[in-house]
Amino acid sequence: MMIVMRRDARPQDVERVLARVQDLGFTPHVSHGQERVVIGVIGEARRADPGAFVHLPGVARVVPISRPYKLSSREFHPNNSIVEVGGVRFGGDDIVLIAGPCSVESRSQMLEIAHAVKEAGAHMLRGGAFKPRTSPYSFQGLGEEGLRYLAEAREATGLPVVTEVMAVDQVDLVAEYADMFQIGARNMQNFALLKAVGARRKPVLLKRGMSATLSEFLLAAEYILAGGNRQVVLCERGIRTFEPSTRNTTDINAIPVLKASTHLPVLLDPSHSTGHWAYVTPIARAAIAAGADGLIVEVHPRPEEALSDGAQSLKPERFAQLVREVRAIAALVRSATAEVLAGKPAGSAPGV
Ligand code: PEP
Ligand code: MN
Repeated sequence: MMIVMRRDARPQDVERVLARVQDLGFTPHVSHGQERVVIGVIGEARRADPGAFVHLPGVARVVPISRPYKLSSREFHPNNSIVEVGGVRFGGDDIVLIAGPCSVESRSQMLEIAHAVKEAGAHMLRGGAFKPRTSPYSFQGLGEEGLRYLAEAREATGLPVVTEVMAVDQVDLVAEYADMFQIGARNMQNFALLKAVGARRKPVLLKRGMSATLSEFLLAAEYILAGGNRQVVLCERGIRTFEPSTRNTTDINAIPVLKASTHLPVLLDPSHSTGHWAYVTPIARAAIAAGADGLIVEVHPRPEEALSDGAQSLKPERFAQLVREVRAIAALVRSATAEVLAGKPAGSAPGV
């Protein structure tokens, strides 16, 4: 449940409510909205009694959170959350573009791609040093050596770096080099890993599991938020369906459904969601038109030589064209939405 404070509640009123929540054995999570403070009362499924709070000074009302996920819900936090990574803002007015190779392959490859994607307009750099591969015989990533090349590419270009962490015992090492943790689709429900990054104060890019419902996705985010780390960005990356003509099926629906259900920024990964470079730009356009806060795209100067996911990697010049197109669409969507909203108020969409 959440305790909504009155607009004129004093700091000491908020303090008293927080103390009461703790006395009763729950964990309070404070959200400072534009107009008022909301306190989430989070604990195990047993019921907290609203009667314990309604009479306290400064309390406007006590309302249940109807979703299974709480801290990630829009009910708890109506405004968009902004997640900042090295000066890049996710969830604000501008879309964020992350680009880079699937895997870090060598120092020269990483530096070449970093300069190319920066030139094309990317805001952040991606690249896997620890790779989750379906086959144990496939390239597994360069490990710490790869992290060093990513850090060097950041120094050379100024682009903040996101890279995957696959296991709890890699968290310290990845944290030393990366600006943002990536948790991949295969680890979306690795609860020990979610708790480990939840205990950090470094932003997390959480990818949807390939068979996860949106409710399960938001509950995975909830693990990180409940640990005290509020800097979570969600990423739809395609789901498994009966359709074999693409690697995955892009769940475009997920974008507006997530935007209605949660305050967290939402990205799309059109590379993994399609599996083929020729489909990446059209689906990237669709994602931005549907309201995504940004994209993460695989780029490689010589896709035929890539050690992983060459088929879905864009050459830098194609990525540059994608950037131009999605920027134009983002501007169009923003002005069209503003016009419509000026005419009539937005309806509220159902979430998950
Ligand atoms: C990746 O982005 O490198 C990756 C492995 O993606 P996913 O976890 O979505 O498969
Ligand atoms: Mn990949």
